[in-house]
Amino acid sequence: MLMKSGTPMSNSEQLDDGEGTPVSVKIRERLKAARHRFHSNDNIADFIEPGELEKLLDEVTVKMQGVLDAMVIDTENDHNTGDTARRVAKMYLKEVFNGRYVKGPSVTEFPNAEHLNELMIVGPITVRSACSHHFCPVIGKIWIGVMPNEHTNVIGLSKYARLAEWIMGRPQIQEEAVVQLADLIQEKTQPDGLAIVMEASHYCMAWRGVKDMDSKMINSVMRGVFLKDPNLRREFLSLIPRKS
Ligand SMILES: [Zn+2]
Repeated sequence: MLMKSGTPMSNSEQLDDGEGTPVSVKIRERLKAARHRFHSNDNIADFIEPGELEKLLDEVTVKMQGVLDAMVIDTENDHNTGDTARRVAKMYLKEVFNGRYVKGPSVTEFPNAEHLNELMIVGPITVRSACSHHFCPVIGKIWIGVMPNEHTNVIGLSKYARLAEWIMGRPQIQEEAVVQLADLIQEKTQPDGLAIVMEASHYCMAWRGVKDMDSKMINSVMRGVFLKDPNLRREFLSLIPRKS
């Protein structure tokens, strides 16, 4: 399915599903009809029909090949880049940005049978994402503080990591990523309070731009009792062993 460089041929032919409409256009039309946002950090899994992700992979491969051609890279003779278009397409759709295209991890919630009401901290959880400005990696850690009440649902510790992976697996802006994650955990567990701190290196600042290797971005979201109670907030912040 790989289009060779210099072949101006038939994007539409290759992506044709028999009706002449690229699969990305169909998915986009469904999203628009449902008035569902499809920003880079939105999940669109509900609008992708079975088998369409594979077609999308073919479509992105062709477009990626177009990018390589436009960058004047001889992918026909350079054995290193011969399959790069496909590899990059696969990396985006199936790996690093998979959190846009697949449904969220199933998380079993249990009632808080023990009536736990003490501050619980999960972390550090390593998170990997990419900035939606440059598609450069964003790699860091998060800590999650939960203040349960007797009605709070309890989820397994590893589930926090799964939820974080799903949210971070999209082109993100750190400030929005932590809010999305907080909303999701809030919805799943309904705690009295929720706190998230994220500290990450942004490779768009290390690899390009100011080329600062050491700068990190730290941000936090505080909800419920963490917002109201400065002592609890201090306790949480003092318990997370930041500084990597
Ligand atoms: Zn960036």
